[in-house]
Amino acid sequence: MIEFDDVTVTYPTGTKGLDGVTLTIPRGQFVVVVGLSGAGKSTLIRAVNGIVRVSGGHLTVDGERVDGARGRRLRLLRARIGMIFQSFNLVERSTVLANVLTGRLHATPWWRALLGAWRPDDVELAFRALERVGIVDKAYNRASALSGGQQQRVAIARALAQEPAVILADEPVASLDPPTANMVMRDLQRINRDLGITTVVNLHFLDLATRYADRIIGMRAGRVVFDGTAAEADDAVFAQIYGRALNADDVLPGPARTAPGTDPETA
Ligand code: ADP
Repeated sequence: MIEFDDVTVTYPTGTKGLDGVTLTIPRGQFVVVVGLSGAGKSTLIRAVNGIVRVSGGHLTVDGERVDGARGRRLRLLRARIGMIFQSFNLVERSTVLANVLTGRLHATPWWRALLGAWRPDDVELAFRALERVGIVDKAYNRASALSGGQQQRVAIARALAQEPAVILADEPVASLDPPTANMVMRDLQRINRDLGITTVVNLHFLDLATRYADRIIGMRAGRVVFDGTAAEADDAVFAQIYGRALNADDVLPGPARTAPGTDPETA
């Protein structure tokens, strides 16, 4: 579904956002990407929908090349990818419904959007999306009147209104309190399970990652340093991702952690 083949992203400053990432994310998987600030999580997500340009390697979504995609091809690709951001990115003065309907912009003539003359099918789709995240009763409220958790749900509904194949969420719960963060993660998980939408979420909070992910990808300095299930992600792995234990015991297997004379290689 999403394939990274030795993907490198080099920013104009010379910083490598991604450094030779190879990954396959199958359709329907719920993947959480964890790592310290600056590890490359955002770059990974932004590369998938072409916000940042791939400088080396190949990246495909549903068999379509993202690297090198431009113009109409890139727009079509992005229409299939719903984005959710930490800061919700809503038009605060507009109603919840109007915000969700912007998820249909890619399939709507400009004059309809300008006049607010949305097709009835699209309006119904928007209401269904709001039902899925439990805030259909807020449809005619201004977005700015909603709490942070509710605003993030509007953003999720907007992504759903796109009828996306993929949802990418960049630190979606970073500005929410823990109970609300859990509710938003549960929404994302339920949507993933019910609709089979491939979902990639960047998270700073490890406990949320282990609670919700089918698969955890740990990043450090633009590289994938862990790729496995929550059960496989033990303390040593997390130390590797978060760089807390830069001592050999945690990150270097082999002779350095073996008592003299017991190393199977040399015994
Ligand atoms: P994360 O999401 O894990 O915090 P990022 O993907 O934002 O990490 O950043 C990865 C690396 O790329 C960092 O060293 C960061 O400073 C750098 N970086 C990110 N965006 C830019 C940019 N627009 N220009 C230059 N460097 C950037």
